[in-house]
Amino acid sequence: MAYIEPAPIKDKENPLESMMERFNIAAEKLGLSDEVYNVLKNPAKQVIVSLPITMDSGKIQVFEGIRVIHSNILGPAKGGIRFAPDVHLDEVRALAAWMTWKCAVVDIPYGGGKGGVRCNPREMSAGEIERLMRAYTLSMIDVFGPDKDIPAPDMGTGPREMAWLMDEYSKAHGTTVNAVVTGKPLVLGGSLGRTEATGRGVMVSALAAMEKLKINPFQATCAVQGFGNVGSWASTLLEERGLKIVAVSDISGAYHNSNGINIQDAIAYRDSNNGTLEGFTGAEKLSDPMELLELDVDVLVPAAVEDVITIKNVEKVKAKLIVEGANGPTSARADNIINDKGIMAVPDILANAGGVTVSYFEWVQNRLGYKWTAERVNRRSDRIMKEAFNNVYKASIKYDVPMRIAAYIVAIDKVAKTYTYRGGY
Ligand code: GLU
Repeated sequence: MAYIEPAPIKDKENPLESMMERFNIAAEKLGLSDEVYNVLKNPAKQVIVSLPITMDSGKIQVFEGIRVIHSNILGPAKGGIRFAPDVHLDEVRALAAWMTWKCAVVDIPYGGGKGGVRCNPREMSAGEIERLMRAYTLSMIDVFGPDKDIPAPDMGTGPREMAWLMDEYSKAHGTTVNAVVTGKPLVLGGSLGRTEATGRGVMVSALAAMEKLKINPFQATCAVQGFGNVGSWASTLLEERGLKIVAVSDISGAYHNSNGINIQDAIAYRDSNNGTLEGFTGAEKLSDPMELLELDVDVLVPAAVEDVITIKNVEKVKAKLIVEGANGPTSARADNIINDKGIMAVPDILANAGGVTVSYFEWVQNRLGYKWTAERVNRRSDRIMKEAFNNVYKASIKYDVPMRIAAYIVAIDKVAKTYTYRGGY
C-alpha cells in the first residue's frame, strides 16, 4: 500500500506566517483587544482525514484530506478545495483565513474555510479523481452543509469535481442539495458568470486602481502569470478593456511579445494542446519563466500560486501596479520593498474576491430556486467589487497604510465588530 509522505513546507516563506504578519499590523492599527485578537487568530475547526483510494492499477493509495474552517462569525464558512501535490496544513490554514478576510472585504455573509488534498491531479485518471473527490466529500459529510460550510473550486478542481461533491452529498442526504457547493456546472445549478468571475473581478479592480494612478488602459501594458481559469479570464477581459497583454505564462513556461499577445489565439492554442501553451508561436518563450515578473510593464497580474514575489526578486519588479489574481502571491517580507518602490498592490483578498462574490450569488439562486441572467450577475458583482475597492482605498488614506493593510483593516474590523455583538461563552 503506497503512502504519500507529508510535503515539506516550501523553502520559501510560510503562507501562514505571511498572512499573520499582515493580520498583526492591521490588528495593531485597529487597536484590536487581545481577546478578539486571539479569537480571530485561531482557526475555528481543522479536520484531517485519510482517504484510501483504489487506483486504476488496482493498488490502494492513501491520500490526506484537509478542511479548515477559519471562522464562521459572519456566516457559514466558504472556500474552495485545492488538489495539488504540495498541499499542507499551514497553507490551508492561511488560505482559510484569507477567505474570512476576503468575504468580509466584499461584505458577503460568509466566514472563511479552505480544503485541500495532497495529490497530483495531472497524473491521475478522471476515475481516480472522482473516487478521491467522493471519498473526501463523504469524510466531510458532517462538516459541509449549505448553512455550515460551502466548498467551491480552487487550484486543481473545477465544475466537474463540484458536481461529484454535490452528488455525493445529495446521495448521503437522500435529496438534491445544490446549495452545498458553488462553482457547479450550469445544468446542476451553477451560476452564469461564475467561470469568469474571478478574472472579471481582477479586471474591475485593476481598472479602479489604474484610475487612481492615472494610467490610461489604452496605453498600458500588462503581464499575467498563470493561464488557468483566473489568468486567462483576466487576460481576456483586460485586453478587451484596452490593455496590451505582453506576457502570459503557464506550467510550460512564460511567453513574451512586446507587440501584444492575441489572448483569444493563446486560449484556442492552449485548448487544442492538452491545456498548455507549450509550442505557442504568438510570442517568444522566455528562458526563465520568473522573468515575467520582472518585465517593464504597467500592470502585473500574478494569477498562479503563492509566494512568487518574494524578497529574492521584488527589487527587480518594475510594474507600477500589481493586481493579485492568486491567493498569497506576495510574501509578507516583500511588502515593504513594494511600498518603498511606490508600487500599488491590490491585494488578493480584494482583487480576487469576484469569484467568491459570484459563488455567493450562485448559493442565493440555489436557495431561491431561481436563475439570474448573466447581465444581472455581472452588474451586481462589478458593483460589489467597485464598492469594496473604494472602501479599501478610503481606509488606506484614513489609516495611512498601503492597500493590503487597508484591506485587512476593513475585514478585521467587520469580523471583530460582528464577534463583539454575537459574543462568546
Ligand atoms: N477558491 C476561490 C477563492 O480562493 C473561490 C472560493 C469560493 O468561491 O468559495 O477565492
